[in-house]
Amino acid sequence: MMMNRQYQLIDRLRSDRLLSAEEIVELLRCLDHEGRDYLFSQAAEVRQQIYGREVYIRGLIEFTNYCRNNCYYCGIRRSNRRLTRYRLTAEEILGCCEQGYRLGMRSFVLQGGEDAANSDSYLTPIIRRIKERYPDCAVTLSIGERSCESYQALFDAGADRYLLRHETANAEHYALLHPPEMSWAHRRRCIEQLKEIGYQVGCGFMVGSPGQTAGCLAEDLLYLRQVEPHMVGIGPFIPQQDTPFAGHPAGSVELTLVLLALIRLLLPDVLLPATTALGTACADGRERGLMAGANVVMPNISPRYARENYRLYDNKLNSGSEAAEGYQELRRRIEGIGYHIAESRGDCRRS
Ligand code: SAM
Repeated sequence: MMMNRQYQLIDRLRSDRLLSAEEIVELLRCLDHEGRDYLFSQAAEVRQQIYGREVYIRGLIEFTNYCRNNCYYCGIRRSNRRLTRYRLTAEEILGCCEQGYRLGMRSFVLQGGEDAANSDSYLTPIIRRIKERYPDCAVTLSIGERSCESYQALFDAGADRYLLRHETANAEHYALLHPPEMSWAHRRRCIEQLKEIGYQVGCGFMVGSPGQTAGCLAEDLLYLRQVEPHMVGIGPFIPQQDTPFAGHPAGSVELTLVLLALIRLLLPDVLLPATTALGTACADGRERGLMAGANVVMPNISPRYARENYRLYDNKLNSGSEAAEGYQELRRRIEGIGYHIAESRGDCRRS
């Protein structure tokens, strides 16, 4: 009886692209090993119908680890005094793009903390220079909450996409993860503004963050369905030793895979990365993510000293197939599971 129910719910999610919050919670609770395999196969089928066997690549440039925020989970929070802070120069950022372009990357993500140095007048010439040099490439920004005018100025300078994880769709849960000066409502308003401006927008959340319940996850999925972002970034929460959540257990890889698959069924054409956090939590996490419905990988092309100090969480991947040096290894791993890297901007195929 229970077993039939999980298949019913998965089939209905695939056909209707929707379940109620209660049904999502029920599915998360009753899913067994066979049910998970069925879910993954359904998600992989949907992914293949839209994106074939292609994996889109984004060269990730972690260009600053200065941050004015103090999120309880994050290793680059402003109160962490045990971190060596760095900020890449414009030339270093362009150097990363050059290296990535040579490797075949046609999409770059500039990610960083909310650094006071990231003024519009500092960032807009960098974006313009990347777009002038590499007009066939997409530029994604992931630099947190800013004013609407600033989002507009960065868009006008040529930025195509913006990643701003909503972190959690539940306001009480948000208050548990962030200090009082940070606002759940403001973050959501930023996501709306980014959409209105015309960015391809990404949101997302951590799986297994402290205080997260199955109900929170259901709210996250329904929020995604409502916003219909072009991209969704999710990965397991991983504790960082110098944060208030140091002692909390990491999120589950299995549950992250389940959520990737559910998101693929909920938003069939969404761009869905198998994230670094998933690859950190489990050696073949990213391959398993791709087999559960993900279709994007974001190799880190930051200089080594930056990779070593962008310590969002403990043991973050920063060498091997995560770094540019290991790009061929990453290619082999992707080919090893029957997929291949696409040398393209990797835009969302939304009809
Ligand atoms: N400052 C920008 C922002 O707020 O969107 C971008 C950088 S922020 C560090 C990127 C993402 O890292 C966050 O949205 C969060 O979900 C994730 N992250 C931070 N700490 C983490 C942890 N301990 N485990 C897993 N993911 C984490």
